Amino acid sequence: MCQDCVKEKHPQRGTICLESGSYLMNFASCIACGRKEPLKITDKSTEEDEDGEELITYKHVCPSCDHIVASHEYTFRVEGQYQEYMMTCLLCGTAADSVSILPEDSNRTNHLF
Ligand SMILES: [Zn+2]
Ligand SMILES: [Zn+2]
Ligand SMILES: [Zn+2]
Repeated sequence: MCQDCVKEKHPQRGTICLESGSYLMNFASCIACGRKEPLKITDKSTEEDEDGEELITYKHVCPSCDHIVASHEYTFRVEGQYQEYMMTCLLCGTAADSVSILPEDSNRTNHLF
């Protein structure tokens, strides 16, 4: 993982958990080639364990020189009556969110997608 290509390391993002894409606002420029191009997503994988916890990981890579800027980790699990989301990434930052799965909270359903 590289700390020189980002403006801020692990910024606090509140409840914004990304399961795809890049937080390009925080990308300074590639330390290896000096360019600032929209980062590629590579090595994306999704794992689900027997408890239903889902782990999505991928890497943010410079499209010009294949320099790896950051590794992205996103987890999703159901905890009682809540769906818990967590994101950890040098570039995209740290965030956590929980959404009630009870029906009366259905006005937040579109938040999931
Ligand atoms: Zn770098
Ligand atoms: Zn580069
Ligand atoms: Zn990320």
